Amino acid sequence: MADQRAEPGAFAVAADGVDPASVPCRTLASGARIPAVGLGTFGSDKYGPEEVAAAVLGAASVGYRHFDCASVYANEAQVGRSLRAILDGGVRREELWITSKLWNDKHGEGDVAASCERSLRDLGLDYLDLYLVHWPFPNYHPPGCDVSSRSADAKPYIHENYMKTWRQMEALVDRGLVRHIGTSNMTIPKLRLVLRDARIRPACNEMELHPHFQQPELFDFVVENGILPVGYSPIGSPSRPERDRTPDDTVDAEDPVIVRIAERIGVHPAVVCIKWAVQRGQVPIPFSVKRPQYLATLGAVCGEPLTDRDMADIAAIDRGCRLIKGQVFLWKEGQSWEDLWDVTGEITPA
Ligand code: NDP
Repeated sequence: MADQRAEPGAFAVAADGVDPASVPCRTLASGARIPAVGLGTFGSDKYGPEEVAAAVLGAASVGYRHFDCASVYANEAQVGRSLRAILDGGVRREELWITSKLWNDKHGEGDVAASCERSLRDLGLDYLDLYLVHWPFPNYHPPGCDVSSRSADAKPYIHENYMKTWRQMEALVDRGLVRHIGTSNMTIPKLRLVLRDARIRPACNEMELHPHFQQPELFDFVVENGILPVGYSPIGSPSRPERDRTPDDTVDAEDPVIVRIAERIGVHPAVVCIKWAVQRGQVPIPFSVKRPQYLATLGAVCGEPLTDRDMADIAAIDRGCRLIKGQVFLWKEGQSWEDLWDVTGEITPA
């Protein structure tokens, strides 16, 4: 309602915040510019929709302009209210970068447009800057289920089907509902096929990236193909639920190299992970609902860069430790989660 709106211009950046104009940007193949760091919005089991929405508002007030959303995070309506307040406060739509994602049970004919329109309605926007196919599998599982849970209808990657979904993504660009489309949780063999067959190429590929999981081959592949890597779980997802942890998982923020650099420059190890990510060339999307955390992260991205030596030292601590394994998407008994990631270099068959 009009009387609840802030006056235009009322949305000022806090005195201790960062001028959004000083946040570095990356340029996409289209020429569009995306802030080099965004705020994640997946509260998982730990943070409810209102807390995440408050963080979006708080983060905008310290200078964030890029938010990574998804329908499956079940908080787009609440996040949308914060975006509305930001826009009503005088921030122009074109200053924001808003990503959302198509969930796995919405790959079918007619479902993509309906899903995108729902996200737009919830977020209170008339276009998205980026819309991603969240996972390359059309496999539904209930939110919060155990990693041993399997869907009887689960399917492997079937390229023909993925392209049917992709054609619907392309149609969203044609309709002006989204400015860019992209992929997430992909592998090189799958991306090769998509690049061969796409009319509109993916602008971004969202992928797990942190110092202990640097995915150098996939990273180089997407960059060489003019696709921007967006890095999720950039701090190593320290707050992920117990069910998403395995005994082999390592902790980036406890790595002696990260700790040593953090102590030298006087920041939390999480901040070193984000500085490394931005300097390497991916766009990290760290999650936090805590003002001191998201403020420290943004400030550090704009501050003194890591040294070449720091960058080389961090490059050397890659442990190949994938944290988000995706077990619930497996399509037959007895499979290993590694089958989802085409570790043989070929798409794992049915
Ligand atoms: P992150 O690696 O971003 O870890 C987030 C946690 O790190 C926070 O909850 C917080 O822990 C801690 N943290 C954040 N900033 C700081 C700081 N400055 N100092 C100290 N600690 C800090 O993990 P996520 O898994 O949440 O990934 C980020 C985002 O990526 C998601 O929110 C989502 O938007 C996206 N994502 C996309 C996926 C996809 O399939 N495309 C998959 C997974 C994530 P605490 O809460 O304990 O304070």
